[in-house]
Amino acid sequence: MSIIEDLVIASRTLAEHGVIDSYGHASVRSETDAERYLMPRAIAPELVTEDDILEFDLDSKPIDGRGRAVYNERFIHGEIYKLRPDVKAIVHNHSPAVVPFSCTEAELRPIFHMSAFIGLGVPTWDIRDAQEGTDLLVRTPLLGESLARTLGRFPAALMRGHGSVVVGESLQIAVGRTIYLEQNARMQFQAVLLSAPSGRIVFMDDKEVAANVAWQEYGRAWNLWKTRWTARLNAEKAAAQGAKWPYDSASNEGQ
Ligand SMILES: [Zn+2]
Repeated sequence: MSIIEDLVIASRTLAEHGVIDSYGHASVRSETDAERYLMPRAIAPELVTEDDILEFDLDSKPIDGRGRAVYNERFIHGEIYKLRPDVKAIVHNHSPAVVPFSCTEAELRPIFHMSAFIGLGVPTWDIRDAQEGTDLLVRTPLLGESLARTLGRFPAALMRGHGSVVVGESLQIAVGRTIYLEQNARMQFQAVLLSAPSGRIVFMDDKEVAANVAWQEYGRAWNLWKTRWTARLNAEKAAAQGAKWPYDSASNEGQ
């Protein structure tokens, strides 16, 4: 299966889990040129097909845009790929349970073993520190670089009042982390309510975090998502080809 097919499946899976809405996006570094990355054209992730995938250089210019609109916030991806050679995939999301942690003093911490990577550190980036009066969107290389610098060596960064960016050594890790970041945020919020009035919550400690992230690649989950979406996408393709029949025969009548 190609990296393009994987990116389609990643986009569909993230949308299905409600961690990206119409405006989030996933990307993957090119396997043949580390100075390029692949990302869909500007389209809701739930609608992405292989034909929508474009290639970009690390300045986030499309190599061959085919006249298609591209995401305003593509600079998030290009600037992180520049600063982090280890990163092979990126998800930018507006994951709803995560946003409150981006604009309060509540610190997101690993409460759940599938989200252990949070224990490596998840800094918060406030766009206002880079530029005042923005619409909170990362519309320029300067803002993308500022975010990338705050992300630093960490697996994710929160974006104040906006969402987060999650990175990984592979597409499956970036997707898995994004889904479990949302789950951890929801569980932590629930634990805060349940733990009142003592407020005592037992989080994973550093040793537990290290023991988990050493092997956690979300492989079984990725296999499930691929299996499910490969079948659905094949059905979509078959339906699209079937739909052409009456159209084709109608056009042949005129010859
Ligand atoms: Zn955004």
